Amino acid sequence: MAGSYAMTKIALIGCTGSIGRQVLDVVRHNRERFRITALACRSNRQALDALAAEFQPKICYCAADGGSMSESSLQDFFAECDVAFIAAGGAEGLKYTLAAIGAGKKVALANKESLVVGGKLVTEAAEKKGVEIVPVDSEHSAIFQALGCRRDAPFERLVLTASGGPFLHHTREQLARVTAAEALAHPTWNMGPKVTVDSATLLNKGYEVIEAHWLYGADYSRIQAVVHPESIVHSLVYFRDGAALAQLGYPDMRVPIQLALTYPDRLPCAPMLDLTELKALHFERLPAERFPCYGLALQAGKRGGNAPAVLNGAAEEAVRAFLQGGIPFLRIAETIEEALTSVPQAEAETYADLAEADRQGREAARKYIYGK
Ligand code: MG
Repeated sequence: MAGSYAMTKIALIGCTGSIGRQVLDVVRHNRERFRITALACRSNRQALDALAAEFQPKICYCAADGGSMSESSLQDFFAECDVAFIAAGGAEGLKYTLAAIGAGKKVALANKESLVVGGKLVTEAAEKKGVEIVPVDSEHSAIFQALGCRRDAPFERLVLTASGGPFLHHTREQLARVTAAEALAHPTWNMGPKVTVDSATLLNKGYEVIEAHWLYGADYSRIQAVVHPESIVHSLVYFRDGAALAQLGYPDMRVPIQLALTYPDRLPCAPMLDLTELKALHFERLPAERFPCYGLALQAGKRGGNAPAVLNGAAEEAVRAFLQGGIPFLRIAETIEEALTSVPQAEAETYADLAEADRQGREAARKYIYGK
């Protein structure tokens, strides 16, 4: 009964980025189902103005004009929506996720750092408020789908697939020489620059293991990553009887984006997979020894406390330096490792604790990179 659906009102943070634009594309194709109540972006005022003219939200916010949103403007931002779509990249996403939970709104979560940095804080706050968190990342959406669109269904093991990025079979000598332009040319997914570089270092896959740990309450021993260069199988869930369920599709973020807004319903969205055209799918062991960022992320995730925030702060600084041509590719991992070693381990119970750990991680990274 197509006419019986309620209109879903969406407040979107990060509307001019790669995910944000695809969220708006989904809205554009389903005007009878979705309405945008609020849009925010970091700095692209011109793009925001164009999107505001098209989608007519009540609230528009550009951080570059007004600085970061105050507590009360965040409350206003989420006041009218049914779903808070957090598509901003980076550690700042945590603040928006916590504000959306505080406002009691369902969260469609595309910001990885919210769970990587603040997994404990976010999941506890959501539980306390009875707020749903729906994963948007393709791997976590695949797991969500394999679990019957639930986060609390029983399972034995989670297997995240990884494209392996553009340097999967590079030797260490080759990795030492790769450029930012090469790192930005991802073989299967089209994403923003930070996450594309994180895919090339496999830091992103480490992040996704941490996210899976928090989203599905899975011990790290029950989460695995496996390389799958075609990015057709988006992840798998193994059950105790030996059965495994996977979700397949061409790499297209609009599918998990739309599902996060409509589940358990499904609407037309993307072309269907042609198996005979694919012919073969490949899988191989994740080469963690050549991509130390993966292990560093896992180490920080298992350590908990301030470690993931230190890791992420250092990673954001290191990737920025790499993209500016300031450090070679392998220095990204070295910078993160140095930050995790030099910043003392500590508990981090509050947002303020995590913000301080983020600052320390960045400071340690800058000191390592620039010597000051
Ligand atoms: Mg992913």
